[in-house]
Amino acid sequence: MKKIRLKDPNIIKCPRCGQKSYKTTERCPECDLIFSRLQFASNKAAKRQLLSFNKDFIINTNQLPSDVKRWKIMLYSILLGLIGGHYYYVGKYTKGILMTLGFAYLVVCTILNPILAGVMEQYLLYFPIGIYGIAWLISIVYVFTKKFKVPILIDMDKLEEDKNLKKAEFDRTKEELVEENKILKQEKDSKQKQNKKISKEKTKKETK
Ligand SMILES: [Zn+2]
Repeated sequence: MKKIRLKDPNIIKCPRCGQKSYKTTERCPECDLIFSRLQFASNKAAKRQLLSFNKDFIINTNQLPSDVKRWKIMLYSILLGLIGGHYYYVGKYTKGILMTLGFAYLVVCTILNPILAGVMEQYLLYFPIGIYGIAWLISIVYVFTKKFKVPILIDMDKLEEDKNLKKAEFDRTKEELVEENKILKQEKDSKQKQNKKISKEKTKKETK
């Protein structure tokens, strides 16, 4: 087998599973993602779907779609990063909310410090703030080293608008996406089951 080099311009990295393959390849050899569909990848569509608590078809990738600007992520991570601005911008709402809560805690602790200091130790008070600060710094490192992942979704509306795509092809793509998602879900479930089994066996052994 031929070894694949990292910096070869003909090599692409699958945004879903990270497998490297040649640009001419139609599908990812590892997870079967069809690469031509990535031109319809959209962060807006992903955000819309994530807001309705649906993670189906969402791919988290550091290969940015056209509707996300890296300079904006950079700017938000620094200027609004402490309240999770860069997370909200790309639709990572859970992390965004955690950062906002961290900021709220920081503000409350600062205001109430004279009162709280009498009740509890200072280091206990500031320990969560330390973790929160480190989380922010790490996210900035991720942003500037291009490792920051963004949720994307193959936008079916855009796909439908594509004039080169015939109706039959569109229907097939849709069916394929549904099928792919089913398989991915099954794989996830079976993995979770396996993990549960392993942890159960572990606890069994430990109790013995
Ligand atoms: Zn893949």
